[in-house]
Amino acid sequence: MNESRFQRYPLNVVGKFYINAQCTDCDLCRECAPNNIRRDDRSGYSYVFKQPTNPDEVAAVEKGVAGCPTEGVSNDGDQFDWAKTPIYDWNALYKKQGNDIHFEIRAPLIKEKTNRPWWKIWQAR
Ligand code: SF4
Repeated sequence: MNESRFQRYPLNVVGKFYINAQCTDCDLCRECAPNNIRRDDRSGYSYVFKQPTNPDEVAAVEKGVAGCPTEGVSNDGDQFDWAKTPIYDWNALYKKQGNDIHFEIRAPLIKEKTNRPWWKIWQAR
């Protein structure tokens, strides 16, 4: 239950690189790759707003992958289907927290066999 492809932050643009729920807002990846990664000031999560398009940008984002202290920058986004691979229900999480952040999530929401909300499973890790 720790697969980052399910945890991808909803604002990431589709592509190889993305920020997952492990982000703790340390700023390292944004410092490394300001052309590609920025902060969602509502939540404190980083997200990839533009996939790297040249070797310098790729190297900058890979620096974030290597340097992130929480493995919050993922580089396997080219190995799954963004439209079909499920994602956590971030809207439900924020609603439960009383936060009015809302995302338009087009991918299917992750289903748990236990019927427990995903955030309870996540918190129990
Ligand atoms: S380096 Fe990791 S923890 Fe720090 S802002 Fe980026 S994704 Fe978040």
